[in-house]
Amino acid sequence: MAETFDVVVIGGGPAGSTAARLLAQWGHSTLILNKPPAKHPALAESLPPTCRKLFGFLGILERLDAAGFYPARGNTVWWGDSRTRAENFDRPGYQVLRSDFDRLLLELAGVSGAHIRHGAAARDVDLSVPDQARIEYEPARGAKASVAARYVLDCSGRAGVVARKALRRKERYSTLAIAGVWKQDHDRQVPDAGHTLVETYRDGWAWSVPISSEMRCFAVMVNGHEAPRSRGLKDLYRADLDKTIHFKRILSEATLTSGPWSCDASLYFASRYAGPNFLLVGDAGSFIEPLSSFGVKKAIASAWVAAVAVHTCLKRPEIREAALDFFSAREQQVYASYLRQSARYFQEAAQYHPHPFWLARAQTGLDSHAWEPDEEELKRDPEVLAAFESLKQSPSINLRVSPGVRVEKKAGIDGREIALVDAVVSPGLPGGVRFLGNVNLPRLLKIAAGYNQVPDLFDAYNRLCPPVEIPNFLGALSVLLAKGILTNEGQRGKGDDLRVSVKSGFLGNDK
Ligand SMILES: Cc1cc2nc3c(=O)[nH]c(=O)nc-3n(C[C@H](O)[C@H](O)[C@H](O)COP(=O)(O)OP(=O)(O)OC[C@H]3O[C@@H](n4cnc5c(N)ncnc54)[C@H](O)[C@@H]3O)c2cc1C
Repeated sequence: MAETFDVVVIGGGPAGSTAARLLAQWGHSTLILNKPPAKHPALAESLPPTCRKLFGFLGILERLDAAGFYPARGNTVWWGDSRTRAENFDRPGYQVLRSDFDRLLLELAGVSGAHIRHGAAARDVDLSVPDQARIEYEPARGAKASVAARYVLDCSGRAGVVARKALRRKERYSTLAIAGVWKQDHDRQVPDAGHTLVETYRDGWAWSVPISSEMRCFAVMVNGHEAPRSRGLKDLYRADLDKTIHFKRILSEATLTSGPWSCDASLYFASRYAGPNFLLVGDAGSFIEPLSSFGVKKAIASAWVAAVAVHTCLKRPEIREAALDFFSAREQQVYASYLRQSARYFQEAAQYHPHPFWLARAQTGLDSHAWEPDEEELKRDPEVLAAFESLKQSPSINLRVSPGVRVEKKAGIDGREIALVDAVVSPGLPGGVRFLGNVNLPRLLKIAAGYNQVPDLFDAYNRLCPPVEIPNFLGALSVLLAKGILTNEGQRGKGDDLRVSVKSGFLGNDK
């Protein structure tokens, strides 16, 4: 008899540690198999401040704040043209050396009761018997062992131990990242020591994340098929850094202390993200553009939803299919949404660098109409901001629910479980959405057509539902308009009554 767990998690990166920590906390026997780390040095990665909300929700914010990671204070970007665009964060994010970050999350999983086998590499998974997956692994080099589980979470990142079983799909282009660590002799070369730097050039882009005030990781992203054969990696790295203007200047007084090394940074997704006894979580399911700096956040959010789905399956097997479908649909939507976002940035760069490197990237993902209701992203979404402005100019409203939009019972997250709840479903949002900025969208849709002044609609909503703040309400209404779920057939005009001061809440403090 093989040793049996409720859940076996393959991989102890951010996704694996988070899912295992939650499942162990919720009372399930959970084992993490974690392969020995790669031989090359760990990458420094940037976690923007929008991660803080997720970390707070998951109960790890204090530990991360206490860990002493170098603060991510903003971005300095030379995108397309050589104009400097700097963004300073109100609150810092984290610049993390991934080995330190991963070790901390893994430790927190252990403290919560997850069993961890360090240095154990999963080799194969037999999923043919529902409720009894069998995982073959190497507990040490050359040794063999196996373990059984009701659910297997593939959190093995690009390795994709389960995902590679005919579920993985690649995008049309491939990317190779070549990275090295540099010691800066004069930090005055960098606009702000806490900033992440990005610069585009003719056929690639360069990126830099600080590890400390003196040390920085510098990487170039080049076409994957340009992986060096005749030329050495170092030559390719230096030659590409040489194509930049600002990075070249910054590095003129810096010393390469480690590397360069390369890693595949090509995009992929999955044909489906869950089956009767497995889930593909984080990077095992899909990989988004590193440009976004959202890979870790996406992996951790994916792990939370996976933990909720598995917890539901274990407690209420009768709704297993709905729970797993919910997870799969959400992963699909998240990937499509990030792909569209990065295509917009690549389109902008392609105007300045009309090279196949940029043209291929600019065209990928544009045909996807799905969007992910990520509140932080929606605050900056130009369509949402335009809808907000237009709403402010409307002396009166005449809101109509667009054709094809329905309120349906959909699987949604209710605490630690997936439950069937009312959600707004549209062609661009097949998975449905229930809340935005605490605003109950199905209820808002139900009453939207009945009022011709926003303040009246707001009062009516607050009588019907737990009250929300005006910025959240206007934010949700703007999203519904921007995404074509509602149309406003009211006349445009001055609309002084809507000149509300939106200082905080859903639309943030910039509008
Ligand atoms: C060049 C580059 C730059 C990036 N920059 C950023 C950034 O600035 N910000 C950001 O948020 N994201 C960034 N990302 C993305 C980020 O690294 C990933 O999205 C994130 O690591 C995903 O976490 P994960 O837990 O899903 O997978 P991973 O972090 O890949 O973890 C997978 C784990 O599984 C283990 N494993 C693999 N195979 C097996 C096996 N057979 N058995 C057992 N264990 C196994 C691995 O050792 C590893 O611990 C970048 C990625 C690249 C390539």
